Amino acid sequence: MGVACTLSCGQCSYNKNVFLGIGFRYISLQAILEWYEEEEGRKQIIEYINKKEPIYECYDGLYLCQNCNYILNKTYLHLEAGSQSYMNSYSCPRCRDKMPSKPLENETEINRLKCPECKCSNLKVEFYMDWD
Ligand SMILES: [Zn+2]
Ligand SMILES: [Zn+2]
Repeated sequence: MGVACTLSCGQCSYNKNVFLGIGFRYISLQAILEWYEEEEGRKQIIEYINKKEPIYECYDGLYLCQNCNYILNKTYLHLEAGSQSYMNSYSCPRCRDKMPSKPLENETEINRLKCPECKCSNLKVEFYMDWD
């Protein structure tokens, strides 16, 4: 199940709660469609629901902007059926650069994050609860 954590900077006032992983509303494409907001992704989900044996990956993660270090907490969505596939994508809300196609993979990477505001390496990550 998913976890929530707080990112806080030891040197400036940056402080952010983020959610990572999956919750119970991620168990099927139908369930995801009930809360997924982005237009293009919704269209794709509807299309893939009707395909034969669709495979999907969907979870919340942290995208790190390679240009300005902005940390974006968003849902990763990857759909696949036969030879077709779809992957959602984001651009950085701060500098408009394209975000990496996948969120950070593991805790080690998350613990290595730098503060997106003051760029210091003193960013604390505290995991505080399971969400669902
Ligand atoms: Zn900072
Ligand atoms: Zn950026």
